[in-house]
Amino acid sequence: MCEKQLLNKAAIITGSAQGIGKSVAQALAAKGANIVISDIDEKLSLETAEEIAKTYGVLTLSVKADVSKYDDVENLVKMTLDKFQKVDILINNAGITKDNLIIRMSEAEWDSVININLKGVFNCIKSVSKVMMKQRCGRIINIASVVGLMGNAGQINYSASKGGVIAMTKTSARELSSRNINVNAIAPGFIRTRMTDTLSEEQKKKLTDIIPLSRLGEPEDVAKAAVFLSTDDSAYITGQIISVNGGMYM
Ligand code: NAP
Repeated sequence: MCEKQLLNKAAIITGSAQGIGKSVAQALAAKGANIVISDIDEKLSLETAEEIAKTYGVLTLSVKADVSKYDDVENLVKMTLDKFQKVDILINNAGITKDNLIIRMSEAEWDSVININLKGVFNCIKSVSKVMMKQRCGRIINIASVVGLMGNAGQINYSASKGGVIAMTKTSARELSSRNINVNAIAPGFIRTRMTDTLSEEQKKKLTDIIPLSRLGEPEDVAKAAVFLSTDDSAYITGQIISVNGGMYM
């Protein structure tokens, strides 16, 4: 198999200054893709873009964008086209949590999670699909969550947003397939990033006990699935939700 399967492809990864997004960016760069690191954290985004360019010898671009703002997303796509003249791969990764029990959840907690995790994915799909439709090819990969499939107490906003991402994956796969654009989602389980750092050791132990593979996931576990969905190895796969969860939900 060719080691540089994604040579000279242009990939946008949202929320990629750190965590799963950074790991996906590194894995795509290792396969030869040029990378657009986009995040709300401008400084970290620049550092990550420079680190990836240096490590993998690919071209990188850093663009500050809040995915919940359509103008930011349009600017992200414009800057990508200015540098790479195309968008081959979009990874919708930016996401947040603001957990609370239903009766305690504030309107602000609900709105911020829905605006970033759900509307943010819509904004990016809308803006990038205009480009991909003209190209008549493209790959869109949405980072959903096991919580969007099974629910989770204390996460009504987050589970609604990720369930919505799963539904949008299927709708956009149906709508864009005639232009050779594949749209899939990855539903990670509990992955060791800053997002899960807030869990206590006791909570992590409880989780590990219900995961058949007996460990939390690593960002690299998700990145490997994202590489597969970005290459021609997955050419006949669209509208699917790939679980990367150690078997915790089947
Ligand atoms: P993370 O370490 O917190 O990284 C997320 C990045 O997105 C951060 O750099 C964050 O910037 C950025 N971001 C936040 N709001 C943004 C916005 N409006 N526009 C653009 N970027 C924004 O999180 P992660 O664990 O890698 O999660 C990545 C994705 O995987 C999320 O969609 C998450 O829901 C999903 N996921 C994670 C897990 C897990 O266990 N970790 C499991 C299932 C699914 P700031 O630091 O400035 O906020």
